[in-house]
This record gives sequence, structure tokens and C-alpha cells, in this order.
Amino acid sequence: MRIGVPKETAQGERRVALVPEVVAKLVEAGHEVVVERGAGSAASFEDDAYAEAGATFDDGAWDADVVVKVQKPTVEEAGRLRTGAVLIGFLQPLTDREGIDRLAAQGVVAFAMESIPRITRAQSMDALSSQATVGGYKAALIAADRLPRFLPMLTTAAGTVQPAKVLVIGAGVAGLQAIATTRRLGGVVFGFDVRAAVREQIESLGAKFLDLGVQGEETAGGYAAELTPEQQAQQQAELEKRLPDFDAVITTAAIPGRPAPKLIPASAVEAMRPGSVIVDLAAETGGNCELTQPGEEVVREGVTIVGLLNLPSEMPYHASQLYARNVQALLNHLAPEGTLVLDFDDEITAGACVTRKEPAAG
Ligand code: NAD
Repeated sequence: MRIGVPKETAQGERRVALVPEVVAKLVEAGHEVVVERGAGSAASFEDDAYAEAGATFDDGAWDADVVVKVQKPTVEEAGRLRTGAVLIGFLQPLTDREGIDRLAAQGVVAFAMESIPRITRAQSMDALSSQATVGGYKAALIAADRLPRFLPMLTTAAGTVQPAKVLVIGAGVAGLQAIATTRRLGGVVFGFDVRAAVREQIESLGAKFLDLGVQGEETAGGYAAELTPEQQAQQQAELEKRLPDFDAVITTAAIPGRPAPKLIPASAVEAMRPGSVIVDLAAETGGNCELTQPGEEVVREGVTIVGLLNLPSEMPYHASQLYARNVQALLNHLAPEGTLVLDFDDEITAGACVTRKEPAAG
């Protein structure tokens, strides 16, 4: 197969869909991999490394049997795909129906990385998890960096320094990584999630579960269901009481395909101590804090609120490496013998394909 790797063009995107290590494996398996010049340079993968891995370079990265991307293509880029081509990337099927319909109308067979079923068999392809791991780690580092104090307890000749108290709200993949990282840095860490099953996972990382008395439902896929308005109000009120006790809060609460639940009202921010930090990983979908400005870092009432977007792109080397391995696993699944065999009776293939879900009427 001819596999194309175009350079990402979305603003601020530094990742690349295939790294040289994975290109070498695909070339060894008999594929032709065409990389757009400079595609990996923002992630520290230079053209020389791709050349060494056996990639070729020309302007035809979009003119391929399979095109692999991180972000969804622009309208102009999508127009360059062959009819019948396979496209793989974060295509945002839940929020960009128009883009998906356009790809379908063009005869592109599109696979959205975020639609791969989160079943054990598909774990190696789970790019939501790999990128959330990077995001959670980075969020912990940002919190540590913005705090005007140490995270660990220190005993020095100038006296003892008390450790910082950190609360992580939402203990999915990103939240658990943020808990693990702030723990390693020496903070006293608490975690909270509406899914009851998570308590044990939080405690196994050496953190404490913050009991807010709110427990939501869990869907069959292991995700949280949206809270009722009464539960949401209770959660906000409880958090408002507890937040002044924390130096840093990392929020990761999300409901797939829905705006992020608003957990921290402006009044709760006001109640926090000056110098406290909120890192809002849910800024991507509007933010868990009422005062979060997506894409910005602001100071309100002396509290720094970080709403930076696309944190995985801030650590593009490993984010790309993990993503590329996810893509490779999906490619192996779609083309186990080297050529595409799209079996739509297969749960992974059918689940990830977003242009074939509703076959054209008639
Ligand atoms: P996510 O990014 O959709 O949400 C992050 C977290 O926010 C979740 O843990 C959710 O419960 C929590 N949340 C939602 N509303 C909240 C609220 N009001 N207050 C506090 N927390 C709230 O989730 P994710 O990290 O992508 O994954 C969640 C779950 O998906 C996992 O824990 C697991 O059960 C499942 N999963 C399965 C696999 C697999 O089997 N291969 C892989 C990854 C994840």
C-alpha cells in the first residue's frame, strides 16, 4: 500500500501521525511510505530519520491508498484525497458531522481514532488513552510550574516546607496520570470522580479519594453518564466548600461528545487562596471551571487558571511516538496481510469507520 503522511497544518499542532520507527516497520512489511517534507520536524523527527527508515518524499502525501493524520483535514486537504482512499486521524465524528459527511460524499473511507471501541482487543490502537496520558502528565507539570511553592515536603536548614495539596477532578486516563505524576513530585494528592469504580484506582496510586457524596451512573462503555442538574448543583456546592483547602486543582472531567461539565463556579475560585492554580484539561470542550478561557492562561482573584489547549502537542515527541504505534496497530488490523481487507462485521473496523455507519439510503 502507498501510505501518505502529510504535515499537520492545524494551528499549534506539532505532532506527526507516523514516526521513523514505525515507518521502518511499515516499509519492512512491504509498504511504500510517502512523507511530506518537514512533517515531523516540529516533533523533533527530521527528514533524514524518515529517509533512513525508508520513506520517500514527494508532494503526493495526499495521493495515497491510506493517508494518516493527527488532526482532521481542512476542506482543501480533504479535496486532495483519492476517491476510495482510507483516511485515519482524530476526525471528530461527534462534533464535526459536516466534515464526516463531506468525506463520505467524496467516497473516502474514514476511520476516526476516537471511535475505536475501547475493548481489550483494541487497546494497542487506543489513541484517546495514549494522548490523555501525555495530557495528564503535562497538566501535572504545568500545575507544579505555575505554583509559587514546592510540591514536596522539604526539611531544610531554613526550616520545614509543607507539601502542596493537589486535587485531581476526573480520574480517567488523564486524571490518573496527573495523580501519579503529582504524587511522584511529592504533593499530597486527592482524586475525585463520579464513577465509583475509580476510587480503588486513585487509592492504588497513593492518593486519597475525596468524597463529595456525589455518585453518577457509568455507561456500558465505562464512561460517566451526565449528572442530573440536582447532582451537578450538589457537586458544585461541595467543591466550593473543599477547594480553599487545595493549592492546585487539575480538572479532567469529560462526557464524550458533550460540553465539559461545569464543576467550579466563579464563587469557588474566589474562595481559593491567592497563588492557587487551576489547570483545566477540559478547556478543549469548554472547561470544567466557569472562569476558564479556552486557549488562555488568566489570573482571577489571585488564582492562575490555565486553559491551554492540545497539551499532547506540547510534548510532541512522545505523543507522536505513541500515536504512531496506535496508527500502526490499526493499520495492521485493517490490512493484516499487507493489503486492505475491510471486514465491517468486525467490531473494531465497524466501530472506527465513520463514513460507513449509515449507508446511503436506497
Ligand atoms: P473521559 O476523558 O471521557 O473523562 C474523564 C473522566 O471524567 C472520567 O473518568 C469520567 O468519569 C469523569 N467525569 C465525568 N463527569 C464528571 C463529573 N461531573 N465530576 C467528576 N468526574 C467526572 O474519560 P477517559 O479517560 O477517556 O476514560 C474513561 C473510562 O473509559 C476509563 O476509566 C475506562 O473505564 C474506559 N477505558 C477503557 C479502556 C479499555 O478497556 N481499552 C481504555 C481506556 C478507557
